[in-house]
Amino acid sequence: MIRDYDLASGVQLPISDLLLIIFYILVYPLIAGLSIILISVLINDEILNLFLLNFICVFLLLLSFMLYYNSSKRLKALVLDVGFYHFQPSWREIAINLIQQVYYVVGLGFLLVIILRIFIVETLDFWYLLGIALFLSLVFQVFFLIRSIRSKKELLSTAQEPVNQDILEHLRINYTKSKLISEYRFADIQLSSLFLSAGVMSYGWNKNICLISRYFQWKLSDEELIAVILHEIGHIENRHLTKSYILGGTEAFLRTMRIFCVTIGVVLLSQGQTIFSLNGFFVVSYLILILLVFLSSTFLTFFFRYRIFLAEIRADSFSANAIGNTLLADTLRKLPSTIPSPIGYNQSSFLGLRVAILRHRAKIEENLSS
Ligand SMILES: [Zn+2]
Repeated sequence: MIRDYDLASGVQLPISDLLLIIFYILVYPLIAGLSIILISVLINDEILNLFLLNFICVFLLLLSFMLYYNSSKRLKALVLDVGFYHFQPSWREIAINLIQQVYYVVGLGFLLVIILRIFIVETLDFWYLLGIALFLSLVFQVFFLIRSIRSKKELLSTAQEPVNQDILEHLRINYTKSKLISEYRFADIQLSSLFLSAGVMSYGWNKNICLISRYFQWKLSDEELIAVILHEIGHIENRHLTKSYILGGTEAFLRTMRIFCVTIGVVLLSQGQTIFSLNGFFVVSYLILILLVFLSSTFLTFFFRYRIFLAEIRADSFSANAIGNTLLADTLRKLPSTIPSPIGYNQSSFLGLRVAILRHRAKIEENLSS
């Protein structure tokens, strides 16, 4: 059953990538655009439009805060048992995130000044602003999308060698869920990232491929390889790919909002005005908008990190339930990373927490059986 064809050249956009495109390019900028259009049809007033835009952002902020709070609570429940306390972001981390966003906004501001010099802006027009903001957001998102599809093709082009027939046969007979993934292959994946040392990826029409680093092929026994593969099946079973696309779309929406905020500021400056020379209501409304967009982005960033934690732990549970906590913990320990280590910025250090959780579960099981 070894098929020796070039996987990467046969890459079509799968359903999950279509989802990504729809969310990234259409849905979120459309929500921002349509809600403003709808509001301004009802109320023909720029300042009120801006004010109501704030309300959209308040909802977004509340939503991202809720997500952040829930996932950090769930993690805490899991993590307190095994004595890891370092996953809670510090105020310093939050401050760094906000400063990073300011840098992003300043860079974007410069870009906008250049664009506006080309298309001379005569008057401050709300629709003109919205047009530029949506256009820029679209350009950014198309850029990110093309980049992600290109790197995916590059990785798939190295994945020509299927996993041993014995392992595939074992999976097929013992684990019906293994059907969720259509191909299992070794690939040249850099080991610097845990999430890329083995992973699942969508390709073709609604197909998933499990890619495993060649390093594992040399280092792991068949039994351990199965443990890794079951972890990847756990990701598909928990629909982690789709969820990450939706989250990516939400990030894209916030990006649109940030571009929108910067556009307003830059257009005002290009007309020799500052925000403060305008109506006080406009000033307050604008500043609140910026604050909310920045805070939402920060919460979403940390939520994203927690979500990755939880996704890994869930996928581990799936694998451990099938083959046992100890075997999976031993396999994870073989991965090249600093183990065990507290959770910090380094994503690969998730391994320490994951191994500790698995050992903890193995101990509980042992106590229950004795
Ligand atoms: Zn994983």
